[in-house]
Formats: sequence, C-alpha cells, structure tokens
Amino acid sequence: MPEMPEMQALAERLAAAVGGATFVAAAPISFSALKTFSPTPESLAGRTLASVDRRGKYVIMDFGGPRILFHLSQGGRVDVESPPKSTRPKFGVVRFQFDAHPSVLVKEYGTERKAGWWVLEKGDDGPLVKLGPEPFSEEFAASIIDGSDGRRVHTLLRQQSTVAGIGRGYTDDSLHRARVSPYASLTSLGPTERQALLDAIRAVLTEGLEVERRRTGGLPTKVGDHWIVHNRHGTPCPTCGDGLRRVSYESYEVTYCPACQTGGKVLADRRMSRLVR
Ligand SMILES: [Zn+2]
Repeated sequence: MPEMPEMQALAERLAAAVGGATFVAAAPISFSALKTFSPTPESLAGRTLASVDRRGKYVIMDFGGPRILFHLSQGGRVDVESPPKSTRPKFGVVRFQFDAHPSVLVKEYGTERKAGWWVLEKGDDGPLVKLGPEPFSEEFAASIIDGSDGRRVHTLLRQQSTVAGIGRGYTDDSLHRARVSPYASLTSLGPTERQALLDAIRAVLTEGLEVERRRTGGLPTKVGDHWIVHNRHGTPCPTCGDGLRRVSYESYEVTYCPACQTGGKVLADRRMSRLVR
C-alpha cells in the first residue's frame, strides 16, 4: 500500500503537473468509488486548482475552497496522462481532466476495490477528521515519548487515527531500525527505546520520501522496492546477516529479524503452526 512518502511525493508531482490548471471535469469510471453526493464534481468546473497537498494517505486537490480528495487504499495507482486520454481502462476509478494540462487517472488493481474519492465543500474535512497527527508533528512525538498506549507498537503505528500516513511497510522497517519487537507495546519500552523508535520512524519516512521524490509521472504498480525488511522474509537481515522471519495474518504479514529485534526469539506464526500440525 502506498504510504506517506509515496503519497507526499505523488502530491508534489501532481502539483507540478496540474497545479494552477482550470478544472474541466471528473469522469467516473468505477461508479462506487465516489463517496460523496454533494457538491457534485460538475460544480467545480472552471475553478483553478490552487494547490495539491497530502494528509495521511489522502491526496488533496484544493480548488480555492472546495476540495477533491482521493485515497489509493491497497491497490490504487495514478497515471499522469500527457496528452490526456479518454479511454475507459478496465481498472479505472476516475479521471480528473484539466484545460490544456495532463489528465490524472486514478486506477486500481487487485480485488479489494477500495480506492475512493470525495468532493468536499469549503470547510468540510470529510474523512480527514478521523486522522491522527502526522508523523513529524510534536503531537505524535509526545504520544510516543510520553504515551501510555498498551497496544502493540506494530498495531498502533498502522492505526490512522493514532498517526496518519504509516502502513505495514514503513512500520516493519521502523521497528527493525529501532531494534524493537513487533509485539512490544509502547508501555513496555523505556525512554531510550521510545526515543529510538521515534527517531527510526522519522528516519525511515525521510529516506522513503527521498527515494519517492526521484520518481516522475504518477505512481506505478510496483511501489516499496526500497523497503529494507518489509516483504523480504527469508533473505538476510541487512544489519546482522541472519534470516528475516515473518508472522502471517489473514491479509498481511509482519517481517522482522529475530537477532536484531526479539533477542533471537522466533515469534509464533499461525500459518506455520497450522502447517506443522
Ligand atoms: Zn538482524
């Protein structure tokens, strides 16, 4: 899933591609993806795209008051079409059209079909109201340094109402960088470990953003090829050389290094134990 670095760099590229352009239309391709009824996309025709920004994993196109948001969920991707196209691709979600500028096509692969978009009137924060602080905010830093959240760190970092913009990929990499077990809770960590965790999260996101800013165009199908440990179970840990392990869940897996993060302890993997039994 695209996370904060992917979405931040994408918003910056879209600002460069269509910022200042006159909005012509939004052409829906997958009709269930539009999450709002009013205002209509048509009501924004003729408005200037004042800015493109990001909050959490949402891209925000601001038309001087009214805004269009989109969220790519798991398999959503973006094409910047220059010249603009009028095809209706099989995996299309919506195409944003601008006068004398490229079009922006949101598309979605996979079976989940959860990518969505919102048209919001001035002052309406829509789905943004549910988001927690950004990873680089003082509020988030305080929640890690002083917080008493008893959940597993791996869970709370992925919770968008706790901190906005982090998902499985950068969570795995942050915990590995901080040498913290994915099963540790915040309350089990001392002050030094908490500071190391905060520093690791911010370093991993900063490095991810640097890599993402080298892209051009939209957001391609293959993202996250710069992850250090996420999705790399079975390969050597880049820090110590031991084999990276995973814990599998229904729809995702956690990757970690036992030597670096759990004192050598291999965490129970339900899928593995089912196989063994
Ligand atoms: Zn290691």
